[in-house]
Amino acid sequence: MSEYTALSDLGEFGLIRRIQNTIKLEQKSTVVGIGDDAAVLEPGEKNIVVSTDMLVEGVHFDLSFCPLRHLGYKAVAVNVSDIAAMNALPTQITVSLAIGSRYTVEAIEELYDGIRIACENYKVDLVGGDTTSSNAGLVISITAIGEVAKGEAVLRSTAQPNDLICVTGDLGAAYLGLQVLEREKQVFMDNPEMQPDLQDKEYLVQRQLKPEARMDVIHELKELGVKPTAMIDISDGLASEIMHLCAQSGTGAAIYQDKLPADQQVLNTAEEFRLDPVTCILNGGEDYELLFTVNLADLNKIRNHPDITIIGKMTEASEGVRLATPSGNTFPIKAQGWTHF
Ligand code: ADP
Ligand code: MG
Repeated sequence: MSEYTALSDLGEFGLIRRIQNTIKLEQKSTVVGIGDDAAVLEPGEKNIVVSTDMLVEGVHFDLSFCPLRHLGYKAVAVNVSDIAAMNALPTQITVSLAIGSRYTVEAIEELYDGIRIACENYKVDLVGGDTTSSNAGLVISITAIGEVAKGEAVLRSTAQPNDLICVTGDLGAAYLGLQVLEREKQVFMDNPEMQPDLQDKEYLVQRQLKPEARMDVIHELKELGVKPTAMIDISDGLASEIMHLCAQSGTGAAIYQDKLPADQQVLNTAEEFRLDPVTCILNGGEDYELLFTVNLADLNKIRNHPDITIIGKMTEASEGVRLATPSGNTFPIKAQGWTHF
């Protein structure tokens, strides 16, 4: 007898009941959560922000090196990151799953362990979702709801020339983490006796498997009295996101290459993989840091913040979006992004 439970033994309603039983509701604005035809929310005098992200097995994740618990955590974190990028606080999520037949009840519970830990960390209530079967792999679609005081949402389209361009944390690590995991998977498939060699790569792997939404910085900016003039989260890579800010704000930008924040493991591993570290930092995706602009008058409030780096400034649109190298040359930045098609 298998120690695992087939999903068909429990059924859709049994599974939902199990999920429901582990959920605690914490948000003031949640009136009714899982169990009725729809959730009921009471946001008060706030603006509501809503964002959805879908993750598809084989396209966005590979379960041979991404544990389900991490996947659940990441699926919530990337949605919370979108809410953060609006300068809002996340309050509720819904989780919709299409589940392939090879998944067991235990596997789905592991996924929900990660989802639940992320909900506790980011203080969001799981208030609903949908569950269905899939002929192929696992599909996870999460919708996140957040609240922001009226008029306080920060858009992509409102940066001005001369605003400072800021980024949180460091960049390029999640992309190199994926390169490392894919290399070790290949080594393992060629020779299953081999143990993965992740020495001096821990930070990269962690950044790939367990990204965090930068809600901490959203709270800190509020405490500092700094409202960004425009903001976006970095899911597809810095180059692509700065292009979005500039296109939507009608500006250009100058980014200083020597200011770009990167961990030493990024520099070392890029070299080991014969990749250009600047390309990894500019075009590596999935860092889920925040890219935002602030008025020059706010410089002193943020210049010494340990998690914020000023990497350039917005310019007139006619100047284009350019990278200035330490040798004094400038190059147009091209967004590579991630095309799934
Ligand atoms: P309906 O048939 O009206 O879509 P469901 O049986 O799908 O109702 O859902 C019943 C309740 O369980 C609803 O509150 C729904 O939001 C919730 N729910 C369904 N699937 C999930 C899931 N995967 N995660 C969280 N809540 C879920
Ligand atoms: Mg349903």
